[in-house]
Amino acid sequence: MDFSLDPADEAFRDEVRQFLREKLPADIAERSRRGYHPLLADVQAWTRIVYDHGWPGPNWPAEWGGCGWTHLRQFIFEEECALAGAPQLDVASFRMFGPLIMTFGSDALKNRYRDPILRGETCWGQGFSEPNAGSDLGALTTRAVREGDEYVINGRKIWTTNAHVANVLCVLARTNPESRRGFSMIIVDPKAPGVTIRPIIDIGEGHSLNETIFEDVRTPVDNLIGEEGQGWHYAKSLLDNERASSAEIPANKFNLMKLRQMAQRKRGDGTRLIDDPGFAARLARLEIDLQALEFLTLRALTEKAGGTRLPVGSLLKVRGSELFQKTGEMQLEALGDYVSYAYPPPEQSPHGIAAWPPGPAFAPGVVADFMYRRATTIYGGANEVQRQIIARSFLEL
Ligand SMILES: Cc1cc2nc3c(=O)[nH]c(=O)nc-3n(C[C@H](O)[C@H](O)[C@H](O)COP(=O)(O)OP(=O)(O)OC[C@H]3O[C@@H](n4cnc5c(N)ncnc54)[C@H](O)[C@@H]3O)c2cc1C
Repeated sequence: MDFSLDPADEAFRDEVRQFLREKLPADIAERSRRGYHPLLADVQAWTRIVYDHGWPGPNWPAEWGGCGWTHLRQFIFEEECALAGAPQLDVASFRMFGPLIMTFGSDALKNRYRDPILRGETCWGQGFSEPNAGSDLGALTTRAVREGDEYVINGRKIWTTNAHVANVLCVLARTNPESRRGFSMIIVDPKAPGVTIRPIIDIGEGHSLNETIFEDVRTPVDNLIGEEGQGWHYAKSLLDNERASSAEIPANKFNLMKLRQMAQRKRGDGTRLIDDPGFAARLARLEIDLQALEFLTLRALTEKAGGTRLPVGSLLKVRGSELFQKTGEMQLEALGDYVSYAYPPPEQSPHGIAAWPPGPAFAPGVVADFMYRRATTIYGGANEVQRQIIARSFLEL
């Protein structure tokens, strides 16, 4: 397979680079390179800049109001953005709920959400997992009962990323108690009476996760996505998109580039970690893994265009998430003594950057990112379960 770019795509890459040089605000790039959770305000501001430049929805087809770019151009755009330090456009809006609504939603829902998504104004909370229903979503117990023109929702969700800042929640709730897969997908206003959102602080002391409780929460039946009882089918489609995105090749590439730069730094004794043959060999191995993943993605994109039976999302998810973790482990090694220093995210500390101990510019955020990336093999569906999906597909079980 020939992956070399034709001149028109090379010219497109130059255009993206020029756009980034001119339009990416230095403070947003500086914050997003650090490795802490991106600030919602930065993601939204950057999405608006991309939109105002005339590139609404870089990964959306033209019929949804997006750029209508080929998969290859989307890939080039995302890669250049990540390498320049731009925050990733919101995955939940552009790759999960937006496509779901544009594919299965009513015209009213499409009209309500399309433009706000393209302008970067939505933040979605994904209310699927429950304390006893994660890998096994079929066990979920949250109920939605229809009463006239409304659904009344009761239940408890956990690990709801961004629920505390979301302006839309999408809840997977059981509408048919007789069937194990009798769920529906329903939009809920996070400010509706009866919704309680409690923070879960992660191992790196960041707050992106929440517990979300629904007590007699009323939402109009117009907020049903697609047909009642088809939530399982929609969730599968959404999760496959989530998994394919979680390979995050551009972010993996940025992390490896950062690792190489960290290892090239002269240490106190004048040596460089990159000159250690053992370290250099492991770094080369990761770079080969990244290249293989990149080819797998390009192959998947090409085949997806022609329709493929491969569980592409699961394949990319397993490989990409493992690469994140291996790179993170080597970044800690390259951090050396600085690994023991606490670098609180400046936005969460009253003293801001002044609270950081002296050290190399790349040090803040590395440990927080390493901690958070432990979750990459869990969220979007645990890797053990993805391996079963892959095995079943290849063995045609
Ligand atoms: C950082 C983070 C963000 C998240 N964000 C969201 C979100 O926004 N919205 C949302 O709804 N959910 C979210 N989740 C939840 C996530 O989808 C679940 O954690 C995940 O699906 C695993 O479910 P669980 O935690 O219940 O673990 P369990 O399903 O209980 O699994 C526990 C262990 O058992 C293994 N296991 C389970 N079943 C099998 C099997 N059949 N075969 C082999 N091994 C198995 C798993 O691999 C895992 O190692 C998030 C999770 C994390 C960590």
